[in-house]
Amino acid sequence: MTYDGFDLTGKTAVITGGNSGIGLGFARAVAAAGADVSIWGTNPDKNAVAITELQAINPSASVIQCDVSSEEQVEESMAAVIERYGRIDACFPNAGVGGSNTKPFHEHSNEDWFSVIDVNLHGVFFTLRAATRQMVAQGEGGTLALTSSGTAIQGSPKGQAYASTKGAMIAMMMGLSVEMARYKITANAIIPGWVETAMTEGAFGYQKFVDNVIPRIPMRRWGQPDDFGAIAVYLMSDASRWHTGDVIKIDGGFSIF
Ligand code: NAP
Repeated sequence: MTYDGFDLTGKTAVITGGNSGIGLGFARAVAAAGADVSIWGTNPDKNAVAITELQAINPSASVIQCDVSSEEQVEESMAAVIERYGRIDACFPNAGVGGSNTKPFHEHSNEDWFSVIDVNLHGVFFTLRAATRQMVAQGEGGTLALTSSGTAIQGSPKGQAYASTKGAMIAMMMGLSVEMARYKITANAIIPGWVETAMTEGAFGYQKFVDNVIPRIPMRRWGQPDDFGAIAVYLMSDASRWHTGDVIKIDGGFSIF
């Protein structure tokens, strides 16, 4: 016997950065729970591999090549999702880039700064604006689940551009959770701990980093993309309709140790 509250049949999710890592972890789970899923990414090869895997879980899944830092591409992609599925019930602005974290702050160029802000902040704004426009028009509620980061609430040396976007995502989420409540749209942010993905490949390949960080994670392992499936299903489901404005840490205990 399963709990009906987590059945996502008839709902549609947009997951940016859904072709790998945490976004693919979200996508696998919501697709398995019955949702129609549209994943977005810029890399055609990654898109092709991910959609083959997702369609084996739920044949209705689809993929769009979209650079979220382009307002035009986001608007076109959201229109294509609405055309295909007729609705949008959940939006996971998850696409992100890490940027340079090797240069001291005072040596960061404008390009270092803007290349991160364009994707991680402007991209999130474009995505959420287009998604909420549709959700408000539908009048049936919805789910906004933003992938933030521990850097939003902890000092991140040499990574101020990235951390600034992740802090801004929490601020954006809080404003949305209050403003969108009247439309029964929930908004929450997820703070993942250290997760084994393409983004962390460099750091996790560096033994000194591994030796220093693993002992600071009570669960004594890196997170895996599939550790994020359950929260995606929950936030998208009818079971979480009174849960909004929250910052949800999934980090193996890292932040409290
Ligand atoms: P990942 O596997 O590298 O995923 C990043 C995703 O973003 C990819 O699907 C990538 O697809 C997409 N993307 C990048 N630039 C894009 C753009 N301009 N337009 C559309 N899609 C774009 O790394 P991840 O760790 O899963 O990252 C997912 C999110 O989690 C990010 O927001 C990241 O900041 C956050 N996060 C990660 C960790 C961690 O430890 N891994 C911790 C905290 C937060 P393409 O390459 O095809 O564009």
